[in-house]
Amino acid sequence: MAKTYVINCGDQLRIEAEAITWIEPGDTAKYLGVTHSPWIKKVKYDPTEHLRSWCSKLGRAPLKGRQKLLLLSQHVLPKLRYRLANSDPSKVVLAGLDSVSREYTKRWMNLSTCVSSAFLHCSVQDGGVGLPSLATEVPLDKIGSMLWLDGSQDGHVKRLAKAIGIEDELETACRRWEIQRPTKKMRSVVNEIRQKRRVEWENLGSQGPRGPYWRKCRASNGWMRRDVLSEGEHTVALQLRTNTYPTREAMSRGRKGGNVMCRRCGQSVETLGHITRQCLAVKCNRIKRHNKVCGILVSAT
Ligand SMILES: [Zn+2]
Repeated sequence: MAKTYVINCGDQLRIEAEAITWIEPGDTAKYLGVTHSPWIKKVKYDPTEHLRSWCSKLGRAPLKGRQKLLLLSQHVLPKLRYRLANSDPSKVVLAGLDSVSREYTKRWMNLSTCVSSAFLHCSVQDGGVGLPSLATEVPLDKIGSMLWLDGSQDGHVKRLAKAIGIEDELETACRRWEIQRPTKKMRSVVNEIRQKRRVEWENLGSQGPRGPYWRKCRASNGWMRRDVLSEGEHTVALQLRTNTYPTREAMSRGRKGGNVMCRRCGQSVETLGHITRQCLAVKCNRIKRHNKVCGILVSAT
């Protein structure tokens, strides 16, 4: 037998003297940025398509790559994060959204497709790009708000939490996103995740072996957010940091039989270390660079 629904035709509900606006059965209403409907499952929303559309518009804007990344990180993703935290996205959908944001970030910053995800999501103070990860943040937002409800000392909130079965919801959410129910403050959980990302990037032999030097080093990471380098210099700096600058060694990774010897001296494998510290053919440039750095330091003091 088909379900029968009764539409409330009684007196309009009021908060003090103010009447609450009805919406028709087929309509939706936006409240605090989230679309609600009497038929929850019928509100079709594709966050991946939404993010792609935003990124595509951002990509066409006459802005520098870094400015696009800043808008994505500080406006687009937080807006989407809020909306997702108030809906029920799957783990696959969240991973797909992170993949889209990384794809556009690499495109805008002219980075190689092989640049590690851990580097992009690693915080700026740890030497990474600081791109927010929805796959990490949305589940934590949801679980954090449930924990807050569960642990509230307010009598009304306690009764509400019990009435909606917050304990069961919490268990289901932890199972769904395959994370352990946090037993400590959410801030500690976030710090643990941050540390995990950093270690993941640092353990990548080809891209992150120098990561520990940049950990919490403001002098080494300040250029990531400040407008001190030109667009081209910024891209090269990111390539150098991730060891993806197109040296012969970098370009031959995963391939066999290519010539990896230095194009200038031919004496050693063309790696970043060889070019910046050993190659005799660029010794003069190295000295000039050293003197230029000394000049900048002297003029800054
Ligand atoms: Zn050389």
